[in-house]
Amino acid sequence: MILTRSIDEVRAALSAARHGGRRIALVPTMGALHAGHLDLLRRARAEAAVVVLTIFVNPTQFGPNEDLSRYPRPIERDLELARENEVSIVFLPSDATMYPSEPNLSISITNLADHLCGRSRPGHFNGVLQVVNKLFNIIQPDVALFGQKDIQQFRLIETMVDEFNHPIELIRAETIRESDGLALSSRNTYLSPEHRTLAPAIVQQLQHISDRLTSDPSLSVSELCEEAHQALTDIGFKNDYLSVVDYASLTPVLRVERGRAYVIAAAQVLGTTRLIDNVILQL
Ligand code: AMP
Repeated sequence: MILTRSIDEVRAALSAARHGGRRIALVPTMGALHAGHLDLLRRARAEAAVVVLTIFVNPTQFGPNEDLSRYPRPIERDLELARENEVSIVFLPSDATMYPSEPNLSISITNLADHLCGRSRPGHFNGVLQVVNKLFNIIQPDVALFGQKDIQQFRLIETMVDEFNHPIELIRAETIRESDGLALSSRNTYLSPEHRTLAPAIVQQLQHISDRLTSDPSLSVSELCEEAHQALTDIGFKNDYLSVVDYASLTPVLRVERGRAYVIAAAQVLGTTRLIDNVILQL
């Protein structure tokens, strides 16, 4: 496994593979690897001969009052897991490598960031697209893998690839969960034991809405969301959002229709930990 912090080195390591016609897969992460990340690596290995894992806690996607400084960085363990999971190259840049000077350019987003996390975390997705665009240009992968867990992020990257003509295939991998349903997240380590037992209620409520709308699409979406929101509030969650949005536009809907796809998504806060999750509803 090659470990490098330098853009020139990672490019040099990849150029031989590229010229040898070997396919390159990219799995971008912020580290603190868990089974969700490892599943992306497993799928990457099935897709390509060369698997590049990037670990970079991107400062530009964190708001001023978010958890940038306390975000977990267990780098030795991450490298051990990368080795065990047959990663070919780990790219571990510093902030100065990625942002040597104050950027003059940014990617602006219309509509797709108006709701869900885009609404509660202003500027977050501009930072995400900025770093993913740079990683795509540095690594130039044939295929890049992302998790459904961050569905708005996936839809925005899909749109960037489409509109900016990145010649990259994208794979959206299913959310990997604990046995009680909680979506794996590097932020789950922040949860107290009491909050950890409450946390699976988020996906239970999302799944409940999905089941109800599947059996009767004429039900009122706002009533279902209000009931779920209330159930979570009653057991101690602070609601950031809980919405049903159209899959393509990511805008909230009041009614659903057969033949269309939706995302039932929530961000809920337990103590100081903000958890997100979603369920895709294909009617
Ligand atoms: P992060 O390190 O949180 O930036 O995540 C890196 C990648 O892993 C992103 O594409 C995430 O969507 C994906 N990911 C995070 N959690 C999960 C999960 N529980 N299941 C599948 N993929 C995940």
